[in-house]
Amino acid sequence: MTAAVVEFEGVSKTYPGGVAAVRDVNLRVERGELAAIVGPSGSGKSSMLNLMGSLDRPSAGRVLVDGHDVAALTDREVSALRATRIGFVFQQFHLAVGVPVLDSVADGLLYSGAPLRLRRGRAAAALDRVGLSHRVHHLPHQLSGGERQRVAVARAVVGEPAVLLADEPTGNLDTASGAAVLTLLRELHASGTTVVIITHDRDIAGALPRRIEMRDGRVIADTATEALR
Ligand code: ADP
Ligand code: MG
Repeated sequence: MTAAVVEFEGVSKTYPGGVAAVRDVNLRVERGELAAIVGPSGSGKSSMLNLMGSLDRPSAGRVLVDGHDVAALTDREVSALRATRIGFVFQQFHLAVGVPVLDSVADGLLYSGAPLRLRRGRAAAALDRVGLSHRVHHLPHQLSGGERQRVAVARAVVGEPAVLLADEPTGNLDTASGAAVLTLLRELHASGTTVVIITHDRDIAGALPRRIEMRDGRVIADTATEALR
């Protein structure tokens, strides 16, 4: 069996103070999937994303990312795994103030050690993919929310990660901009990127091929719709 992009084996996460945010979750996300993690606020979705993205370590169980057992890696190796194999998109965009769009995206390749010229070239290509070729010299504050999120998506995929993890990517956007970002994520999936979208929005989740439903830290349903693949 080839390695899943993300695999959880009996994973739990209990925060200091005793909140059990993730409880004994078993899960595989295969290469090429487009999956939603859906559930109400507080059900453990962001905790799941942090574990999938090696931003956090489980209290129990094993997390494998792209075949690597995160617990078996040194901090330096985890950083390398995260920088090269995982792309993140967050609700709040997280673009550096005062940094032009092209360089924000090029910074997604800092870890690669590629020279600036090459990083900028790849950044320009990624911005073209998200439909922002006309915005490369803009600063974040000169962009709409939807455009900022598309920059964040470009930065997340510029290094061609094994998986793109998006935590409520449309949460700060109006309906039209949110729909455009979802369309973009679908296009990336169609061209081969593995995508996991976290959402509390049942309509968004319902339109995706696989829905992993969380409640109180547990996966209560995991359903696939073949027709949407
Ligand atoms: P969701 O993303 O579905 O809203 P979270 O994973 O953010 O859920 O949170 C799940 C539970 O864990 C909540 O009860 C939340 O308050 C708690 N929690 C999340 N992060 C922390 C933390 N860093 N420390 C303590 N409790 C946390
Ligand atoms: Mg959350």
